[in-house]
Amino acid sequence: MARVYLDYNATAPMRAEAKAAIARAQDAGGNASSVHATGRAARATLEDARVRIARAVNAPADDVVFTSGGTEADNLAVFSVVASGAAKRLLIAATEHDAVLAAAQASGAAVEFIPVNASGVVDLAWLDARLSRWDAEDGRPFIAVMLANNETGVIQPIADIAGIKNTADGLLLVDAVQAFGKIAVDCAALGADYLSLSAHKIGGPGGVGALIVKEGAPLVARQHGGRQERGRRSGTENVAGAAGFAAAADAACASLSAFHALAAQRDAMEARLRSAHPDLVVFGEGAERLANTSAFALPGFASDAQLMTLDLAGFDISSGAACSSGKVRASHVLAAMGVDDALAGCAVRVSLGWSSAPDDAGRFAEAWLNEAARIVARKETA
Ligand code: PLP
Repeated sequence: MARVYLDYNATAPMRAEAKAAIARAQDAGGNASSVHATGRAARATLEDARVRIARAVNAPADDVVFTSGGTEADNLAVFSVVASGAAKRLLIAATEHDAVLAAAQASGAAVEFIPVNASGVVDLAWLDARLSRWDAEDGRPFIAVMLANNETGVIQPIADIAGIKNTADGLLLVDAVQAFGKIAVDCAALGADYLSLSAHKIGGPGGVGALIVKEGAPLVARQHGGRQERGRRSGTENVAGAAGFAAAADAACASLSAFHALAAQRDAMEARLRSAHPDLVVFGEGAERLANTSAFALPGFASDAQLMTLDLAGFDISSGAACSSGKVRASHVLAAMGVDDALAGCAVRVSLGWSSAPDDAGRFAEAWLNEAARIVARKETA
């Protein structure tokens, strides 16, 4: 039986369009900074990718800075506002990805967390009140709120947040790494000053992404050298990676309605699990969520036991806890939503994607129910 991959929010399988674009760029070769014909062709490929990424998020091409991925894009934005002196105090949503949280904490600026409600949605009233008593000594308010959460899929009201930050001349970073290619992302409509993207989440290659920097927003280079990316990010450009990223972005953005349709499969799976286990908790259920993501917990069925048994049964899923370097930490996302440690320790994430088969979530549900029944039976005989 072929394995069922249900971990698209970790990374998505590469699309054929991306593989073909990468192969073409690699075969053509060339350094995009060289002035000879081969270099000029590489430059044309890179600039074509820039235009396509910009178009995909409704931003000017000049605003696109290619990076090594979402982590670098988030770090570049956070360190830019601090290094430029624009902001001395950062307001970071409590459910942000570590790429934002850890960068903020390493930046030397003061950090405050924007609370979220039990569904994981940012508390707009808190933000409004906090900005109304902003101390000018702290510079411009810097706000970081992701468009969609990697663990729960919860979508944030970014345009409302931008409206609040505009009243205080703030700066807004929107980490759109999980949202891009899954829902429409319109940089201008969102009101973002910075927006981060990553190719591998949408079926592009790993190790390439972009930071969209609105004209006038502070940008202080972190890498120095050959002044590539108009001095904003030195280092020989990853032309093949950018070409693969653009091809994946085109394909993902052309199939948003197919992605949206994954919600039916996801919802049926959640309903099936809940019909057998009414005490199943689905995180972020009360909020708008990405169509592909389900984070849930059954009290008493530990995350690592689920991961292990489902892995043996042929399903790739992820634990609700962030796992880095082999260490599993409690999920700060679930903690911020007020989920207690015992329940958070039972959380898993199932995430579908562009190449999921129509019955993937259904097959998972049947396998999961078998394992859950075994756990319940074991507890009853214990
Ligand atoms: N931001 C979010 C919301 C993510 O989910 C991830 C990846 O897990 C990142 C940033 C980091 O992106 P990358 O893996 O491209 O460094």
